[in-house]
Amino acid sequence: MAPTDDEVTRGASDMTQATTPADAKPSIRRTGRYTFETKSRTRADVTHTQDVLHLKCSCEAGEKGLRCWHLVLALQAEQWYQRAEEQYKAHNKARRQPATITRPAGMAALQEAFGA
Ligand SMILES: [Zn+2]
Repeated sequence: MAPTDDEVTRGASDMTQATTPADAKPSIRRTGRYTFETKSRTRADVTHTQDVLHLKCSCEAGEKGLRCWHLVLALQAEQWYQRAEEQYKAHNKARRQPATITRPAGMAALQEAFGA
């Protein structure tokens, strides 16, 4: 009976891990334009690599062509990064535009003043 009990307990703790807010924030980082690195939830020393462009993951499930949670997470992260990037670009554009317009005008005015 002991192994069954152990299995049940482990299964239950996995369930809570998947739903608790503390575990809803797994370790993921962007390593390239379309690549992410996710730390394994079960093995702390294992890291899986995700390719969101080709929908691939280096984990056991991913190698079988299954959509694993790493890939789901990487796709979410990719969307987040893309939004953040767009916001950043839009913000920069709005800030930089007046400067790039005034600079050539100022140069032209200077050149005009010196008769160039
Ligand atoms: Zn995976």
